[in-house]
Amino acid sequence: MEIDEAKRSLGALASLRGESQELREARNLYTQAQEERSRLARHLRALELDLEELREKIAGAEAMLYGGSIKNPKELSSLEQEVRSFQRRQTQLEEEALEVMARVEQVEGEQRAQQAELDRLEGAWEQSQSQLSEEESRTKALLHQLEQQRAKRVARLAPEILDAYEDLRQRKGGRAVAAVEAGACRGCGVDVPPRQIQELLGGAGLVYCSNCERILYLKD
Ligand SMILES: [Zn+2]
Repeated sequence: MEIDEAKRSLGALASLRGESQELREARNLYTQAQEERSRLARHLRALELDLEELREKIAGAEAMLYGGSIKNPKELSSLEQEVRSFQRRQTQLEEEALEVMARVEQVEGEQRAQQAELDRLEGAWEQSQSQLSEEESRTKALLHQLEQQRAKRVARLAPEILDAYEDLRQRKGGRAVAAVEAGACRGCGVDVPPRQIQELLGGAGLVYCSNCERILYLKD
C-alpha cells in the first residue's frame, strides 16, 4: 500500500511539471507587446520616408517658385498652391508620427511592467520546479526502498499465500489485509467471532474476515 501511495505521489508530481497558465499568459502578453512595438516601428519608418519625400518635393517646388525662372503669374500661383498642399500633408504626417511615437513610449512602459512580472513568475516557476524535482527524487528513492523491502518479504512467503494476497488485493481495492481492533475487523467494521480471535492468537495459518474476506491480523 505504501508502494501504491508512492506511485500515486509520483503521478501527481509529474502532472505539476510544465509551465503554469499564469506564466504562459504573461509570456503571451509580453510577445504581443513586442509585436506591437515592431508594428509601430515599421509605421514610423514609413512615415519618415514619406516625410523625407515630401520635404524634397517642397524644396524643389520652392526652388522653382523663388528661383526667378518662372514669370507667369498663373504658373506661380499654382506652384504656390502646390507648396501649400505639400505643407499641409507634411503637417498631417508629422502629427501622425508624433502620435505613433507617443504610442511607442506607452507600449515600452507597458512592456517594462510585463517584463518585471515575467521575471517574477519565471523565478517562482524555476524555484517550484526545483522543489518538485527534489520531491520527485525523494519519492523515487522511497519507492525503490519499498520495492526492495517488498521483494524480500515476498521471497519468504509461500506461493499460495502470495497468490491469495494478490487476488484479495485486486478484489478489495488494493487492501488485502485488515487489523482486528476491539474485536472488530478494521476493513469492514464487522465483529470477529471469538473463535477466529483464538485462531489468530494461535498463529497457525491465515484467518480471513467472514464478512469482507480480508486476511486478518491482531494489532498489538
Ligand atoms: Zn472484514
